[in-house]
Amino acid sequence: VITVDDLKKAFGQNEVLKGITTSIHRGEVVCVIGPSGSGKSTFLRCLNLLEQPTSGKVVVDGVEVTDPDCDIDKVRADMGMVFQQFNLFPHLSVLDNCTIAQVTVRKSNKAEAEKRARSNLERVGLLDKEAAFPGQLSGGQQQRVAIARALSMEPKLMLFDEPTSALDPELVGDVLSVMRKLASEGMTMFVVTHEMAFARDVADRVIFMDGGYIVEEGHPDEVIGNPQHQRTRAFLDRVL
Ligand code: ATP
Ligand code: MG
Repeated sequence: VITVDDLKKAFGQNEVLKGITTSIHRGEVVCVIGPSGSGKSTFLRCLNLLEQPTSGKVVVDGVEVTDPDCDIDKVRADMGMVFQQFNLFPHLSVLDNCTIAQVTVRKSNKAEAEKRARSNLERVGLLDKEAAFPGQLSGGQQQRVAIARALSMEPKLMLFDEPTSALDPELVGDVLSVMRKLASEGMTMFVVTHEMAFARDVADRVIFMDGGYIVEEGHPDEVIGNPQHQRTRAFLDRVL
């Protein structure tokens, strides 16, 4: 689905990504781990040009998004994004949060949009909250609405940037179980996370980043279970 070739990104003098080469295949769950400041979020944001790469190539479903002539809005419509901060519209109901982009971006009619929204709210276990406003929900519920909203756009792939980091510990499990279900249904997922148990159990592949490079990547049994690099071992010793 996505190939990344020698991706670099600098903010002024600060080179944050120093040459990332990898690919994400259809149906794969890829978890990105690594220390704070290693460039994980920047990498994710370069995939749909929320950050403009300095050099290198990103190809999504055959479309080179790093080509200046690319229609990035079209590519973005196929990528669901879920961030640490849920970014729901506070003045809209849960249902309207899940339909607005479908109507404005996808040009779906209201009835279709609501049907898709309800089926995705059901998927995340929140159909009974469709009339509520975000402020009336817990953080975990808001994040599940954010996931339902992204799914309602019927994306080909979901990008998650630390979706559980802003949540109280007791709410993390509900969000992770929704993500596990998505993974088991075959959704292609790219997940930046500090949840090592999730990465170990759910990921098809784990990427360990440090200092703007991919230090190692592979099956979680290798990267987390039997890391080959000293930097990976040092990181895991700190977080496990
Ligand atoms: P964390 O685990 O804390 O989220 P991360 O691995 O996601 O860290 P990034 O957010 O990608 O790290 O940041 C990597 C580096 O890029 C940091 O040094 C950060 O200060 C810098 N950086 C990120 N975004 C910007 C920006 N918009 N402008 C300038 N510097 C930035
Ligand atoms: Mg980050």
